[in-house]
Amino acid sequence: MAENRMEDLIGMLKNQRMLATLVLGAFLAVPAFAQAPTSPAASDTSLRAGAQMINDLVTGNHILYGQGVLDGFGHLSARSDKDPNIFLMSRSVAPGLVKASDIMEYDLDGKPVDRRDRGIFSERFIHSAIYKTYPEVKAIVHSHSSAVIPYSVTKTPLRAIFHMSAFLGLGAPVFEIRKFGGDDTNMLVNNQDFGLALAKTLGNSAVVLMRGHGATVVGDSIKQAVFRAVYTQVNAQVESDALKLGEVNFLNAKEAATFVEYQKNQKQVIERPWELWKQTVKNAN
Ligand code: MN
Repeated sequence: MAENRMEDLIGMLKNQRMLATLVLGAFLAVPAFAQAPTSPAASDTSLRAGAQMINDLVTGNHILYGQGVLDGFGHLSARSDKDPNIFLMSRSVAPGLVKASDIMEYDLDGKPVDRRDRGIFSERFIHSAIYKTYPEVKAIVHSHSSAVIPYSVTKTPLRAIFHMSAFLGLGAPVFEIRKFGGDDTNMLVNNQDFGLALAKTLGNSAVVLMRGHGATVVGDSIKQAVFRAVYTQVNAQVESDALKLGEVNFLNAKEAATFVEYQKNQKQVIERPWELWKQTVKNAN
């Protein structure tokens, strides 16, 4: 008898719990449906890109600022995952302050799709021309990293000094804007012709240095481009330290190529630092 009563009691409690779950579920469902994208930080709903891509763009901007790759200048862009002829980048704003609502669309000639009254980067042509030239490029970082600039103005190549930056291979090519614009440029890649010349100098490298200016890094995803931008800077710092000590034993071509190939099959090599860096930034979404 006692056992039966206990079973009845357990059955009753179970039913009550089910009822409580139903009531709570109905209660929670209302605010979830009622949430409208009215926050000023919400992305423009007309953007032709997935929500994850917008989030990663915002996070990537903040990571690059947090890691000291970008300061008040520089930019991160991504080719749209919905339309390969469009890329996404923020309006003209410091990378550390980018919000989802700052993300805009540009075509592959650098023209904003829907500018309205928003300020835009004069060097958007770095991105448009590279996306136009290389369909496989999905994300780009342009930086003025002070650790990297010495390698753009001397004959010392920025080359892979450790495995994490194996993508640098035997050395990043250097874009000489004077070759294309003579003495009259303000050093900026501020038209599509300069962008196309930069893209040509990049070739099939992951990184192109820009003489007396900075660097541009490409990747097959936002995460890869961010990873490469960070490790390009780390490589520059380590290489500069090593050069002070004497002759440097760099990765050779075979070692660099083998690690790049290995990394293609090791998704976590890109994911692990991204997850860590993500924790260190305040996401303004
Ligand atoms: Mn620049």
